[in-house]
Amino acid sequence: MTKSIPRFRHLSIRAYFVNRHSWFVFLLNALFIFQFLCEFSKMRRAIYPGSFDPITNGHLDVIERARKLFDEVVVAVAHNDEKQPLFSLKDRLDLLRETAGKIDNVRIAEFEGLLVEFARKEEAGAVIRGLRAVSDFEFEFQMALMNRKLDSAVETIFLMPKEEYTYLSSRIVKEIARLGGDVSGFVPACVAKALSRKFG
Ligand code: ADP
Repeated sequence: MTKSIPRFRHLSIRAYFVNRHSWFVFLLNALFIFQFLCEFSKMRRAIYPGSFDPITNGHLDVIERARKLFDEVVVAVAHNDEKQPLFSLKDRLDLLRETAGKIDNVRIAEFEGLLVEFARKEEAGAVIRGLRAVSDFEFEFQMALMNRKLDSAVETIFLMPKEEYTYLSSRIVKEIARLGGDVSGFVPACVAKALSRKFG
């Protein structure tokens, strides 16, 4: 009376585990589903490294573009003291937190040593760099290729800012501020204040 219809017997769960072969297929499927979920839940993260001495509207333009392409952008301040920065590491981080740090899916961090090591630690698949003019290209090209040699899993992506920021750099902003010029059109307000405190 309770006999199942032979045509549907293979659909019962019990029947599924009866032979060893089915077990193997089940485990394989589970593994595929697990891998798929892992891939799906992985964040697409990029690192935007630099000195940010100090952050300018050009940097902010690049950050805005990058954050539309990635789930998270980590703006990473390099410890490189050999560049003799005007602002201390703490000041640069504070200014970044006050500006870029307030943008959705942007995180501020600091790093020391190899960029590719930091990218690996952060599980980031890309490094963002800004390209303003041909003059940036040679150095950036060399850096990108060297980083690829060190870790082929990290891709460098170049983003171009709005035309009006192509002539803007932290160095020029510092020079204008040092000579008493108005930098309010080139940097966020808190940076302009910090510059006038330095040179005022
Ligand atoms: P670094 O010492 O690594 O050059 P910077 O803070 O000067 O650090 O620059 C970080 C990145 O931002 C570099 O890729 C640089 O080319 C880019 N960048 C700087 N200023 C601008 C700008 N005005 N427009 C677009 N990219 C910029």
